[in-house]
Amino acid sequence: MKYVDEYRDRDLVRRLADHLHHLVQRPVRIMEVCGTHTMAIFRHGLRSLLPGAIRLVSGPGCPVCVTPTGVIDAFVELAGRDDVVIATFGDMVRVPGSNGSLATARAEGADIRVVYSPMDALQLAARQPEQMVVFLSVGFETTTPTIAATVLEAERAGVDNFFIFAANKVMPPPLEALMRDPGLEVDGLLCPGHVSSIIGADAYTFLARDHGLACAVAGFEPADILQAIIALVRQVQAGRPKVENCYGRVVTAAGNTRAGEIVRTVFRPVASEWRGLGVIGKSGLALRRQYARFDAAARLSISVAPSREPAGCRCGSILKGICSPDDCPLFGGRCTPATPVGPCMVSTEGTCAAWYRYGGAGRAISENSNQVLP
Ligand code: SF4
Repeated sequence: MKYVDEYRDRDLVRRLADHLHHLVQRPVRIMEVCGTHTMAIFRHGLRSLLPGAIRLVSGPGCPVCVTPTGVIDAFVELAGRDDVVIATFGDMVRVPGSNGSLATARAEGADIRVVYSPMDALQLAARQPEQMVVFLSVGFETTTPTIAATVLEAERAGVDNFFIFAANKVMPPPLEALMRDPGLEVDGLLCPGHVSSIIGADAYTFLARDHGLACAVAGFEPADILQAIIALVRQVQAGRPKVENCYGRVVTAAGNTRAGEIVRTVFRPVASEWRGLGVIGKSGLALRRQYARFDAAARLSISVAPSREPAGCRCGSILKGICSPDDCPLFGGRCTPATPVGPCMVSTEGTCAAWYRYGGAGRAISENSNQVLP
């Protein structure tokens, strides 16, 4: 497949890994802030290819994982109403709240539908005008444009039983908050490829300029990720942090400006709570006043209570990059993908799920093909 196979080529991957081994001269700590990167790194066994001096840590890159318990509880409360149909992406269904999950609510009779796009939820509302359909709007910059476009379409079509529960988040403010945390020692950032396709590589300039953080935008194939790690190591060792776009076949400097316009038309920035990181100014999105009639929380009088982490769960620290899943006493015992205690074990992009599935440092085998990495 064009743009995929050549970036999985085993000879290229081997050469890049060899180059990295020759290049690295000091410990370099790199954070990835994209759940798809986390999974790709494990799935392709990249950790086992890296020199020991390179340490990878995961950050707050999984939108389901960073959604705090109070919001999950509000989702579950909403699902309990007889006149409401919940439409959600599948990852959210099993995330535990304080008193059960959406899956629990469904077992108790709630009408919960898994959809693949917000437009599916709008179509559901159009087909069932006697019920209120609420789309659980969770996601980063990559997902939000389609949600904004769906709100605009709902308005155009005059669908008045469609609502969203806006829990969307944006990535730059938490990155800045992390960089201000003296406990976090990170030299470089593997910038999220999907988010960057919308906000553009220039969105990270402040991290290099103001915080001395090396930045590289990366794609999701093994060669993409290794090229970005090489770029980061070069910057760190040269003491010249900047933003390098290593995913030029998808990401531009300015990003998708049309998508950005649609989002700004429908949403406004607000302070938002992140699991593990607390409340961060302008890191969330709320519907603008002219679209308030689609706001499920306001129209259905649902409020978000203060969040509490599940007892013993270290998701908050994992999302801050200061813990690994094997630091959690529940990992692999009480907490497994079949019996998740925290969201990082539920989501397909969760760090704990990746560690459980691929076994800590990961294997040097690509699941997607017969390409066994060196
Ligand atoms: Fe939370 Fe489970 Fe991960 Fe521990 S292993 S941090 S309980 S999700």
